[in-house]
Amino acid sequence: MTAAEGGPVAARWLEALLALARTGRDRSVSDTLVAVADTVQSVLGYGAVAVNVYRPAWHDYEVVLVLGDADARAALMYTTNSYEVLHEELLRPEFELLPGVYFLTGGDAVWDDLGTTYTPTSPASGDWQPEDGLIMALRSPSGEPLGLLSVDQPASGCRPTDAELQMLVAVSAHAALALDTAQRNRAAARHRDVLMALAGFSARLGARTSDAAVLDGVCAVATQAFGFGSVTAYVCRGEWLVPVAGRARTTRIPLQSVLAALDRPGPSADAGCRTVERAWFLRTHERPAERGRRGSRAWSHDWLLVPLRGPGGLLVGLLVLDDPEDGLRPDAQTERELLLLADQATAALAVARHRSELEHQAHHDALTGLRNRRDLEAVLDDLARHPEGIAVVLCDLDHFKSINDRFGHAVGDRVLSRVGELLREHAGIGDVAVRLGGEEFCLLLPGTDDAGARAAAERLRAATPARLADLVDGQTMSVGVAAAEVVGGGGEALLRAADAALYAAKRAGRDCSFAARAGGRAERVLRGPAPVPPL
Ligand code: GH3
Ligand code: MG
Ligand code: MG
Repeated sequence: MTAAEGGPVAARWLEALLALARTGRDRSVSDTLVAVADTVQSVLGYGAVAVNVYRPAWHDYEVVLVLGDADARAALMYTTNSYEVLHEELLRPEFELLPGVYFLTGGDAVWDDLGTTYTPTSPASGDWQPEDGLIMALRSPSGEPLGLLSVDQPASGCRPTDAELQMLVAVSAHAALALDTAQRNRAAARHRDVLMALAGFSARLGARTSDAAVLDGVCAVATQAFGFGSVTAYVCRGEWLVPVAGRARTTRIPLQSVLAALDRPGPSADAGCRTVERAWFLRTHERPAERGRRGSRAWSHDWLLVPLRGPGGLLVGLLVLDDPEDGLRPDAQTERELLLLADQATAALAVARHRSELEHQAHHDALTGLRNRRDLEAVLDDLARHPEGIAVVLCDLDHFKSINDRFGHAVGDRVLSRVGELLREHAGIGDVAVRLGGEEFCLLLPGTDDAGARAAAERLRAATPARLADLVDGQTMSVGVAAAEVVGGGGEALLRAADAALYAAKRAGRDCSFAARAGGRAERVLRGPAPVPPL
């Protein structure tokens, strides 16, 4: 820089530095890199500028931007060099003219060790030689490597003067700050997205009514907001953790092995997450993409286990996370957010289970566990769509009131509960056993015709006294049967016809079965030779 141009050039410099300082605040990382390279090229006057960014997952530098001729771009773009090679060969103390600014001459002959280099072919006009290179190391305020700016082809054709080197130091510092800020902003934006996703998840906490629905939502958050490529959610069932959502759904894991893994001190023991050696689970995954990762925070052969713990720290489930998109082990904040997700998942599981329990209670009888009569007509209408029709078998214990009178209510309850078991056993796949109330029960038999229903009624009636013998001697049951093929479809009509048949059985002296006939009549079902065991 000459004395005459010192004023305007200095002003341009200052302006460029200020612009750089502002850059990282409101631009993305890639825009910031472009702005940095652009400043170096246009303001400092270098024809070629290559920007390398440090990749912590690989502990290397990757060329992500090349300003200059097309040949340079083609040769250098996306090439990588290991941290060690660059620092041992290029960024040696003896080449560091000023802090962070390295000048290498062709005679230093260190370029050979690099994977790819580019030497411009234009003839030198000043003392700058084609093999010369100027590199600026960008570091975060805490000294972490951020990237490298490598410049070539000075417009002046000359090696940098002391004043220019000073300016390069200033530009590097500002470029580093801008890059650091942009990277921090990107990380902050990611954390914001995660928190938004967690807030969205918790807002819908009560909307999911099954384990699978809850954990599908959890897997979606872990994948979309946290960026894990592989997420599997398990729930504890007995001695096993069973996969219910996410990927790799086929393999269940012995609970003991997970408890052992969670007990093992890991890199993030305090936060409650553990990474475990992949060998533990090697068979299910192969990921060539992670080969070569070797940074100290690099995700390699790891699984991240996030326990879902209920009250008292009891393990209720587990998230197994893998393939993070940034290729890094999670930082402390991400782990805290994961535990937040785990807490929400556990809460959502509890809500879903509570809701499904309430739902179950609303439709089931507490004493026998059978369905109650709530929505019975709707269920019956639904089942009545079966192409082969449906039959209803209605049963009522005979003189049940006298059991209560003679032996007390508790025995009465045991009898009812036993009858519930009997009905459950007589119900085939697709059949529905219902306690209508008191000592009145019914079996809904889709796909059953009149003959089938009569046989089922007799089997049930005949099996009853023996089944209750240890509680009450000689307890009998009366049964009424209605098949859709005889009385027509429709839940209400079937129930009414079965009820009329049951009434006929009571009138006929009890301990017998009657089947509904057309025109509102009912006829006795002939007894078989002996009680037949259920199908
Ligand atoms: P029938 O042969 O005509 O059917 O006579 P029944 O005594 O069986 O019929 P009734 O309808 O006169 O009496 C039913 C009794 O069932 C009256 C009630 O005290 C008893 N009951 C209803 N629900 C329960 C229950 O949950 N537990 C017990 N232990 N008894 C019940
Ligand atoms: Mg009765
Ligand atoms: Mg009754």
